[in-house]
Amino acid sequence: MQTPILLSTPHMSGREQVYVQEAFDTNWIAPLGANVTAMEEQIKAYTNANAVCVTSSGTAAIHLALRLLEVGVGDTVFCASFTFIASANPIKYMGADVVFIDSEPETWNMSPEALGRALQDAKERGQLPKAVIVVHLYGQSAKMEEIVAVCEQYGVPIIEDAAESLGSTYKGQQTGTFGDFGIYSFNGNKIITTSGGGALVAKDPAMIEKAVFLATQAREEAPHYQHEQVGYNYRMSNVSAGIGRGQMEVLDERVAARQNIYRYYERSLSNVEGITMMPELAGTVSNHWLTTITLDVEALNMSPYDVMEEMKAANIETRVLWKPLHLQPVFEGTTFYPHDTTQSAICEQLFKTGLCLPSGSNLTEVELERVSKELSRILVESPSIAV
Ligand SMILES: *Cc1c(COP(=O)(O)O)cnc(C)c1O
Repeated sequence: MQTPILLSTPHMSGREQVYVQEAFDTNWIAPLGANVTAMEEQIKAYTNANAVCVTSSGTAAIHLALRLLEVGVGDTVFCASFTFIASANPIKYMGADVVFIDSEPETWNMSPEALGRALQDAKERGQLPKAVIVVHLYGQSAKMEEIVAVCEQYGVPIIEDAAESLGSTYKGQQTGTFGDFGIYSFNGNKIITTSGGGALVAKDPAMIEKAVFLATQAREEAPHYQHEQVGYNYRMSNVSAGIGRGQMEVLDERVAARQNIYRYYERSLSNVEGITMMPELAGTVSNHWLTTITLDVEALNMSPYDVMEEMKAANIETRVLWKPLHLQPVFEGTTFYPHDTTQSAICEQLFKTGLCLPSGSNLTEVELERVSKELSRILVESPSIAV
């Protein structure tokens, strides 16, 4: 059996240990310290965000954003359906209701048309959402101009889930910085990692001050422990931030490596029938966190699951795309707005046809070639129904 090739694994620079050692040397192991401050400065400089705080996870950052927008029981939050469940779980933590919005075919992200219809209906019912959570999947920016315009029209704040898209830009501006809030994730499979962690960015620096307060148990200034609100333990540790500092230094290299992987697959699979690369919207630059493709399931007579199984037999990890959240049992009965009311939902079509390919920045040329060859072989030998 050949060595395994995985979807996306941590890729250390070697510099992380310098900063982690610094934390040990100064005994700033916990809670905060120089690494936390430095990493926040690096993220701020990199993204051009107005203010940043690092958190224990990307999910925690979304939870904080919802709390800062005062989302509560009986409120509604709109969220993309085509995403990882972490985008929507914090809505339930707040006791609010969720309405899911379909994707559009050009970016696979939130459809501005479906969002517009959902907002119009909500307005007519007199219950506009407290926030809209937009996601930039696999590194591709959503159609931010259209989404910002429609949200402004109804006066609804935007939270950008940029967990997968750190380093991606939309018309030259970093994803995560268009909304009132943006979040990034440094989970182990993301473009850079702190082993686990995230960041919250905000337009209004006062909001980040408040986020830091809430993320440290909402401790008031007093000689004793004084608490007037419910808080959380959501700050990133100084040890994790040491890893993050070493990773931020190589972020541009990691982005370039993943972009090259996408281009490699695009070239090497260009002659294989039945494959379409994930589209890239003009004016956007994707970090290509994961290279994803869609398959012509009918012509190949193979589903993404079939391909995934065959790739697994060759010890190569691939994964079907995110299962739309409105189809998840935990969200059964939730309202969903399709992109086009006359055809099946775009996110459902993508789920039925799409596949993520190994995309880690540490993959070697030999490994990429193996992936591409196996995939080509499987598809060429597919039980094609075309004669
Ligand atoms: C990874 C991810 C998150 C959650 O980030 P964590 O740091 O793992 O909590 C949220 N949304 C999306 C789209 C993600 O891919």
